[in-house]
Amino acid sequence: MDELKKYIKVLQEIGFDEIFAGDMMENQEDTLKEKLKILEQLKKELENCTRCDLYKSRTQPVPGDGNVNARLMFVGEAPGADEDRQGKPFVGRAGQLLNRLIEAAGYKREEFYITNVNKCRPPNNRTPTIEEQKACFPFLEKEIEVVNPKVICCLGAAAARAFLGRPVSITKERGQKIYWRDKILVLTYHPAYVLRNPKAEDTLFKDIKMAIELAYSED
Ligand code: SF4
Repeated sequence: MDELKKYIKVLQEIGFDEIFAGDMMENQEDTLKEKLKILEQLKKELENCTRCDLYKSRTQPVPGDGNVNARLMFVGEAPGADEDRQGKPFVGRAGQLLNRLIEAAGYKREEFYITNVNKCRPPNNRTPTIEEQKACFPFLEKEIEVVNPKVICCLGAAAARAFLGRPVSITKERGQKIYWRDKILVLTYHPAYVLRNPKAEDTLFKDIKMAIELAYSED
């Protein structure tokens, strides 16, 4: 909200009147409230969801988290054990690595929106099936509609497969701009893969920086 106040001050300084600025701030606040309301509703839907069998093994569903006005959304595969316990995405070791790389790029996790394709933890962290991804995808679509990011960074091949509807090799397809609807997809490794293969950390960092640059670029 501080950013918004600063922006309005600039508008006033260049001649826009206070009423206009006040209206604008009110509109922004209404939009924010509306977004939070829709996401709260979505959270309730997830709590009752039995669309796929993953509801049987979850402690709780894990909705997305972060800036609801983010220009960049990170999307992983599904919650793991820590996320299932805490009800928040990317809070385990993989999440800590993601946070560290975002900070190394000069940003904070809170500036972005972070979620998963599947909102419930698969047993033994197995990869969700295509059917399970399809069952949960409408929830992700709702998050995308609400947040409306410019760029979506898919963390891992399973997340990328859910968007593109085909098998994806991250090694072959990472580092490019891929268009999906009106969004730009950037595909990269899942941080959990990088924990097992530390040599891939530089590449993950490069891709995260690329996603951030695209999100904030004017074109
Ligand atoms: S993974 Fe998604 S579709 Fe499956 S039960 Fe959980 S919320 Fe529902």
